[in-house]
Amino acid sequence: MSSESTQTRTNRLTERANHGMDKGLPAILIRRAALADGEVAWNGRLPAVEALGENQLRLLSAPVAGLRITESINDGIRVVGTIDSEVEVRCRRCLVLQRRERSLEIDIRFDPEVATWDEAPGVYRLDERLESVDLWPALSEELILSLPGYPVCRADCKGLCGMCGSDLNTGSCGCEVSEPDPRWDALRSMAEADEIDD
Ligand SMILES: [Zn+2]
Ligand SMILES: [Zn+2]
Repeated sequence: MSSESTQTRTNRLTERANHGMDKGLPAILIRRAALADGEVAWNGRLPAVEALGENQLRLLSAPVAGLRITESINDGIRVVGTIDSEVEVRCRRCLVLQRRERSLEIDIRFDPEVATWDEAPGVYRLDERLESVDLWPALSEELILSLPGYPVCRADCKGLCGMCGSDLNTGSCGCEVSEPDPRWDALRSMAEADEIDD
């Protein structure tokens, strides 16, 4: 199949939900019957997500998704691809804003056999009575779950002085500050470990 015919097919088979737009809610609908003929591609900008991660993180533009949708086990569907986004992150220690590009790998599944209370990571319940699946709630959840819980501008950021508020990365402010209790070190490094490579 040429890329041109794939694109034509994609445009025919995917649509924005009219009911979703009426309510002002974004939706990315995939018709399940269309998947019987093979893979469907969805390429485009996702709706913006407001107030990510308690305002420590802000989307600078709508994320760009490249997704491939196929049939999956139990008459479900599988969505594989990437979501690229450009975000502004506030360092938890020095509060400086940083621009970052993120690329999130997506591999999720919608399964009618999975109960809502039994959803595993990346597996979402599919109501088998529906002819179309709305990908947007799951994709926005994946985006939010992938956010760093403790973003730092760099691993050795010294943060702000607790006494006078000076940025300690730019030099010592001269305040008398007691050393942090070393018993918290292990906990602190655990909390920060997954942020460094993000
Ligand atoms: Zn910092
Ligand atoms: Zn100070």
